[in-house]
Amino acid sequence: MLLTPQPALASGPEALESVDWLSRPEVTEPETLLEHAMGVDVAPEDRPEPFWVGTNLHDAESLTTSSLAAMGLEPRALDFDPTPGILYMSMEGHTLRPWCGGGGQTANAALDCSPLVDEEVTFPAYGNDQTKATAFQKLANYYNDFNLVMTTGRPPNWVPYTMAVIGGSSSLAGQGGGVCGIANVACDGAKRNHVSLTFPQSCGNSVAEIAAQETAHNWGLEHTDITSDIMYPYVTGGNNSFRNECMDISHATGNGITQCPQVHEFYCPGGGGEEQNSYAELMGIFGPRAADTTAPTITNLVPSNGSTWTTADTFVISATFAEDSNFLAVKWDWLEGLPDSLPDGYDRCTNNVCSDSYPAWRSNQEPYDFITFDRPPAGNYTMKVEAMDAYGNYVTETISFTVIQSDEPSTTGMPGETDTDAGTTGDDTDTGETDATGTTGGEGTSAGPGETLDPTVAGTDTDSTTGSEMDEGCGCVTSNAPPLSAGMLLLLAAIALPRRRRN
Ligand SMILES: [Zn+2]
Repeated sequence: MLLTPQPALASGPEALESVDWLSRPEVTEPETLLEHAMGVDVAPEDRPEPFWVGTNLHDAESLTTSSLAAMGLEPRALDFDPTPGILYMSMEGHTLRPWCGGGGQTANAALDCSPLVDEEVTFPAYGNDQTKATAFQKLANYYNDFNLVMTTGRPPNWVPYTMAVIGGSSSLAGQGGGVCGIANVACDGAKRNHVSLTFPQSCGNSVAEIAAQETAHNWGLEHTDITSDIMYPYVTGGNNSFRNECMDISHATGNGITQCPQVHEFYCPGGGGEEQNSYAELMGIFGPRAADTTAPTITNLVPSNGSTWTTADTFVISATFAEDSNFLAVKWDWLEGLPDSLPDGYDRCTNNVCSDSYPAWRSNQEPYDFITFDRPPAGNYTMKVEAMDAYGNYVTETISFTVIQSDEPSTTGMPGETDTDAGTTGDDTDTGETDATGTTGGEGTSAGPGETLDPTVAGTDTDSTTGSEMDEGCGCVTSNAPPLSAGMLLLLAAIALPRRRRN
């Protein structure tokens, strides 16, 4: 049973206002996904609450036709660079809640919150070790070509990941009998910490197929009318895949409105947004599989470990990284020297789970500023910074520095200079403002729930009836699946998977 305590998100960056020598570093990027994608600022009170359209749930950051219309906006071309992703498959039992704990979010896998449920619901564990391994392997096969890291070990909460919860029946989520799974939607995979649900007790023969469709909904794919495409709205149990061709959007379910036409049009030019190439869209979201074994490195850290500052100094605590992909998760923690008025600590991280956040889709080549110290009191201070890429490669550093009583600012060091020796200090903060134009561009995470239901009525074959034993080892996948050990990152690339031809 995975029941993680929900982090308290009560203190935001405004908590810093209680201390006159602390402030939030200047923020230059759009802070929300909506702002970033649409180039507009929509006040929180003007954003729609999550709302259903037919069987799909949308919210302000879904970037769908319906959610944008609710704010008086038109769909606009999205241009996120292909970015690696993480898919965490939860099959050991999972509790979800419809609230995220006060951070203003409506969905976040790391916080176990999603509007897919309207009350706290515990989904039971799925099957046995073999059925889990089979489902994992089969889902991995569907996504083999894309740069998506799959895992049954839960990533740290500051790393954005999409979560597929497998367990229980549709009735647990208040859905009817023919529903095999439900999911949120965000066009172009713009939101990267969504949740989907797959109900093996309702449709046990096709768990991987259903989970493939639900997770793909998370990344903006809609239903198509081709039966051999994963996005066909009904379970076929056949030999299907994410097909690499332009297919008509299916309106067999939903309200007849295509929700991400601005994305579909890009991959199926001339389709008027009413055709979808499922394979090409996923490739555009994640890029081709490319195993990453290189950890991010810290290229600049301010202050440097062991440095000494004075009570007349002003500086920003900041780290800059080098990472060979455009996915980077970062967390700062204040370990020593916390003011009494911040009794719960203070941290800043990606994925909206800390006191302060970094916006989704910022360039990871920009400095990750933590806090501005403005003439701090004398004392000893310790901060820790961590970073991780999509493949779990990790780097961390802890810095301790001293502030001494003096009316004279410390001698200013060169930008990025490491002055470990007392007296001097680099009082300049975010140096190295390199622009992100490297090999990999923006970065990816994002936030914005919306959801989609997915009534997958079993066709002829599958047992859409409830209660039936979920898995069976349908013979589709042999048992050369890797053992599922908790906490283990199963990097697809490291597993020799048969490469499937889509078509
Ligand atoms: Zn669906």
